[in-house]
Amino acid sequence: MAEIENTSSSDKHLRFSKTKDFLNKMLNIRKSDTQYLKYYMIALCSFIIILIIAGNFKIGYAISINNVNVGFVTEKNETYAMIEDLKKELSEYQGNKENIILNASYSPVIALNHNFSKNPDEIINNVKASVDFYYDAYAVYVDNTFAFGMESKNLADETIQAFTDMYTPEGEIISIEVQNSVEIKPEKVLYTRILNKDEGIKILKGYGNNDELYTVQEGDTLWGIGIHNDITSDDLMLINELETETIVPGQKLRITNVEPLVNIKVIRNITYTEYQPYETEYIYDSSLTKGTNKVVQNGSKGEKNINATVTTINNHETDREIISETIVSEPVKNIIKVGTKPKPKTAATGRFMRPISGGYVSSAFGSRSRGYHTGIDYALSYGSPIYAADGGTVTSAGWGGGYGYMIKINHGNGYETLYAHCSKLAVKSGTKVAKGQVIAYVGSTGNSTGPHLHFEIRKNGSYLNPAKYV
Ligand SMILES: [Zn+2]
Repeated sequence: MAEIENTSSSDKHLRFSKTKDFLNKMLNIRKSDTQYLKYYMIALCSFIIILIIAGNFKIGYAISINNVNVGFVTEKNETYAMIEDLKKELSEYQGNKENIILNASYSPVIALNHNFSKNPDEIINNVKASVDFYYDAYAVYVDNTFAFGMESKNLADETIQAFTDMYTPEGEIISIEVQNSVEIKPEKVLYTRILNKDEGIKILKGYGNNDELYTVQEGDTLWGIGIHNDITSDDLMLINELETETIVPGQKLRITNVEPLVNIKVIRNITYTEYQPYETEYIYDSSLTKGTNKVVQNGSKGEKNINATVTTINNHETDREIISETIVSEPVKNIIKVGTKPKPKTAATGRFMRPISGGYVSSAFGSRSRGYHTGIDYALSYGSPIYAADGGTVTSAGWGGGYGYMIKINHGNGYETLYAHCSKLAVKSGTKVAKGQVIAYVGSTGNSTGPHLHFEIRKNGSYLNPAKYV
């Protein structure tokens, strides 16, 4: 059975004498010149201490297994225990009939920091890598090429079945065909090639151990990584088994496409519902005012039940044959009436024009010496025409006390305009007027000291500054 021999850190005293002899020879110092030797040794020790203090060097042990160096450690007890465990693991392996000999030896060293193993697992991996162990196992061959080994035939069967299930989509299965020859043979397999189920599935999916991995950087997108590596983002999602396109810096991604080792061809029958989009039809209607649309008929999607035979190879669809189509409902057109009738001239445009031509502002809107001015005054010659500032309906035309003869027009949306101190009115209450239409003439009636137009704009009864609108 297996054995481990631990040769101790050996005889320090012996080593020291050897060193001393060596130094004596090198420096040509006779044994009687111990004074010099002492100084030399003090200097050497100081130098070593300085190196250690400087932080670049550490004291520890070099470990050899069967005379092969497998690493440096600072603590040998932990490694010793792990090598014991490894020996146990190797010898308990099913079917193992070989003697495992792991002769471990530890020699004290002073070495650079970075030469020391970060954790004891590294040492174990080095042991596994430097010593070949073969076991009685089951080898899985794909197209006569060794793929991996498994502890038992059952496990190999289960692995292949699990892989096949992964590539068998839902539906009424007609046939499942493994397109490669897959054989399981009992034979001696290298320890490191004996895998568990998940590792075996990875190999069957085409992921080797030496796949190139890319580390996601800040600001990377799947699309961008794809462009640089000549792979689509869909394939990146597939080979990395990503469920969303979200990637985070530091994440490792496979960036080389993989060819599955084994192809599973599945033919299945499926039924599904397919929706057909509806069209929208526009009907121009001269009885509707321009800018007005009216839905005549609401559109709805068509619905079909489809039965099809679908072929997939490793979940990629390669063929689809429609067996039957049942129409549940036809799509219904969306019909919209679009108005073309021009708006009446008397309709408000929403923008006001200056109600006179020529003249000048003789009094602005707002506070003034004689109280608050609710409009704007334009001074111009007697009898000049006054135009409607926008289309609307005359709501008042007549004597307005201090306003004299005046006109009020309602433009809708709460807007009203007022024109005061007229000499003569051209329209009556209730008349629909167009923007720019003559409605009255400049005068000086009511509370007025000379010919002018007092013009107001009101919104819901509040006075607005006409200078901001005309
Ligand atoms: Zn005024």
